[in-house]
Amino acid sequence: MTSKLLCAAFILAALTLSITFSLQPDQQKVLLVSFDGFRWDYLYRVPTPHFHYVMKYGVHVKQVTNIFITKTYPNHYTLVTGLFAENHGIVANDMFDPILNKSFSLDTMNIYDSEFWEEATPIWITNQKAGHTSGAAMWPGTDVKIHESFPTHYMLYNESVSFEERVAKIIEWFTSKEPINLGLLYWEDPDDMGHHLGPDSPLMGPVISDIDNKLGYLIQMLKKANLWNTLNLIITSDHGMTQCSEERVIELDQYLDKEHYLLIDQSPVAAILPKEGKFDEVYEALAHAHPNMTVYKKEEIPERWHYKYNTRVQPIIAVADEGWYILQNKSEGLMLGNHGYDNALAEMHPIFLAHGPAFRKNFTKAAMNATDLYPLLCHLLGIPALPHNGSLSSVQDLLRPTAPRTVTHTQSPPPHHDTYCPVKYQQVFT
Ligand SMILES: [Zn+2]
Repeated sequence: MTSKLLCAAFILAALTLSITFSLQPDQQKVLLVSFDGFRWDYLYRVPTPHFHYVMKYGVHVKQVTNIFITKTYPNHYTLVTGLFAENHGIVANDMFDPILNKSFSLDTMNIYDSEFWEEATPIWITNQKAGHTSGAAMWPGTDVKIHESFPTHYMLYNESVSFEERVAKIIEWFTSKEPINLGLLYWEDPDDMGHHLGPDSPLMGPVISDIDNKLGYLIQMLKKANLWNTLNLIITSDHGMTQCSEERVIELDQYLDKEHYLLIDQSPVAAILPKEGKFDEVYEALAHAHPNMTVYKKEEIPERWHYKYNTRVQPIIAVADEGWYILQNKSEGLMLGNHGYDNALAEMHPIFLAHGPAFRKNFTKAAMNATDLYPLLCHLLGIPALPHNGSLSSVQDLLRPTAPRTVTHTQSPPPHHDTYCPVKYQQVFT
């Protein structure tokens, strides 16, 4: 089939789905919550009664495959765009774009440059273009101007703002005279403590209990505001965490002259930009340097990672085996927990739970992809989905069956689909 035919088939399929499964207007509120670094099995490490309460009266997906690299910014942008990193452009927490000749770094909070975000359009913008309003409490990217827009309501990122304050804002926006239909809420833990302690530490137990208490607080506040039964609450995360050790460190200085390359991003996926004329030398020095590090020329990066077709992916990447650390040298220090590894590894996988009028009760599903959340969100909000790498039909069984009904605003495809159907998206149509 030609790409045009594939596009047409996709549009038809999307239209059929949106017509058959559109929801009543009172079911179209969504609150998306991310607890950063909440690994899938933390649910069972200590008693987590509030998470289990959501599972009992809602849905739970046991295995969520997130995207490579399994880092915070790439995965949070996937959750709100449905795109792989190579398609949405946030390929790492630390990036260099050779065309823009600009760097992006989470370490220095130098992330407010719009151009890094504009290879995609996040859901809050599409929601607002459809005539709705959105509110964001610290979700990564929501305080950045993207395509000339911010969320209708948002908080400037400040990690010292308490969870309770963030929840208060979300409740205020959902209950105002012109209520939002989409809320996004972000919390930094258990990621911070997971890095610090390592996920295997017994001290992670209290950290997980604290997150469960925070969820309990959110549920309590939603009930108090009469939102618990009318709003669709989705609780997820960006990635998991694995245990690291000072015994599992790979030092690039042992193999490479640091004058020959720039290290754009470090562990566990080292993004390496060789200086002019030094590509072969750098690659040869690294290729077989260490048994726990796999080195790829950009064009050799495995297709399954969807991590090749973007200028921000550097000419060479070196990927550490699980639990191994790549550093320039040991003077840099390491964290006892880390993530970013192969997204096929269970330890990298996050959680997914949901509760609300659109969702089934006490339903467990085996697996989904993180990219599937975006079409699900668009469906719940009744807004057109932009081209994405997910599949609504893959997650439709999470939803209660509803009587078919026709909704006028989803009958014409978004103009984007007619004109913009690049080859890189074809994988979602086949
Ligand atoms: Zn994270």
